Amino acid sequence: NESPIKTVNPTTNKVEKIYDEMTMAQIDVLFAKADSAYQSWKKTSFSQRAQVLHKAAAILRERKQSLAKLCTIEMGKLLGEAVGEVELCADIFDYYASEGAKLLADKEISVKHGKAFLTYDSIGVLLTVQPWNFPFYQITRTAAANIMAGNTVVLKHASNVPQCAEIMEKILREAGAPEGVYTNLFISGSKVSELVTDPRVKGASLTGSKPAGASFASAAASCVKKSTLELGGSDPFIVLADADLDLAVKTAALGRLYNAGQVCVSPKRIIVLQSVADQFIEKAKSLYQNIVVGDPLDPKTQLAPLSSEKAAQTVIKQVELAVSEGAKLVLGGKRLDREGAFMQPTILTGITPNMKAYFEEIFGPVLCIYVVQNIDEAIKLANATEFGLGGSVFGKDEKEAINVARQIVTGMVYINHTTGIAPELPFGGTKASGYGREQADAGIHEFVNAKLIRVT
Ligand code: NDP
Repeated sequence: NESPIKTVNPTTNKVEKIYDEMTMAQIDVLFAKADSAYQSWKKTSFSQRAQVLHKAAAILRERKQSLAKLCTIEMGKLLGEAVGEVELCADIFDYYASEGAKLLADKEISVKHGKAFLTYDSIGVLLTVQPWNFPFYQITRTAAANIMAGNTVVLKHASNVPQCAEIMEKILREAGAPEGVYTNLFISGSKVSELVTDPRVKGASLTGSKPAGASFASAAASCVKKSTLELGGSDPFIVLADADLDLAVKTAALGRLYNAGQVCVSPKRIIVLQSVADQFIEKAKSLYQNIVVGDPLDPKTQLAPLSSEKAAQTVIKQVELAVSEGAKLVLGGKRLDREGAFMQPTILTGITPNMKAYFEEIFGPVLCIYVVQNIDEAIKLANATEFGLGGSVFGKDEKEAINVARQIVTGMVYINHTTGIAPELPFGGTKASGYGREQADAGIHEFVNAKLIRVT
């Protein structure tokens, strides 16, 4: 019975490293350490916590090449994208180190007499479950905000990125975090929800699929603990009539290939008006025909493998099913004739509500283009999904684009850009994409107790 916790390089599909799963007794010891570390960490000053986070940022920058390579080996992303991810993580650590004290400062409330203010108390051990698609970024955003807030963090990372998980714990220790402030657990996903009920756990956050989120959040709710969920998305990308068409095609098409399409906020449904549809599809097709698919460590490569053989098979099957149900395969849709979890950049059109692809999230390099007659139809289609994470509107008239953005039911809408990520901007969704926010002011306030102190 081989442990599920292992590095399988998706470029070769070869197993590179296997880790033993931790026993419940080992995990119990780690929770005890996280809980006892909390008793002292909560008393540290913001500047002490900031020192640790700034140091972690410096280590990440110094070692970005080797850390990025680890991402590429474990889940296949392009090395250049992985370097960018490590740099983003350094920025997130620095952001919370520099801004945390201000964000968590007491907040005065205006009252008729006396005084009232909110004070933001840490709550204790946060159990967080994270996915493999951004092996460093996903864990950094939760860790940085909560370590700064005075909580301690226990992470269960995805089973296919154990080396990234392990190294982040080492980096935070090296940066000066005492033992127990940030702890990595090697345990499979099917067993983690039961850990939420441990009385030492005070909060629960998960990024991943809807079934994993539902199981984790139900366990948290069963013992009245707060949870946040960042689940899948099916972001609409609406191209208005006055949009710069070349820019819109390039942004949508290349955006869809970023991280091999395995991004919760990837532009998964491109919605274009009939008047420009043929041009849009032709331009996207000629762009994808010249995409270099291959070794993610080679700087010339533009499309990396998917994160695993299973992931590649799932996406190819989704495309095949859509075509068998009547969708038009404009380009791609097949595996590459080589070892590894590679598939061709793919374009689908003609997806209708009687097909599974209309409703399902496709987590891979598949550009799905929908053609509509007018803006109202575009907005209706944008909202015809259970998801509500991000979205984009492309158009030159900013007022009109913002007006469309206001009507999209998601947590974020970007104008003339794919849904982005920055430490100072809140990130998260609504509907089946989950609840709660990461990053920014909102992110650091998720797992603190906003306590009212009233002086009469
Ligand atoms: P999962 O939701 O299965 O995995 C994400 C994390 O949850 C992993 O750490 C996983 O652990 C853990 N997990 C799995 N099952 C449970 C469970 N029952 N209770 C608690 N935690 C669990 O996602 P996949 O990797 O299988 O990807 C499938 C889909 O999830 C994608 O197609 C996409 O829709 C969505 N997803 C969304 C992401 C986002 O950024 N919002 C990122 C990744 C996926 P383990 O690895 O041990 O199974």
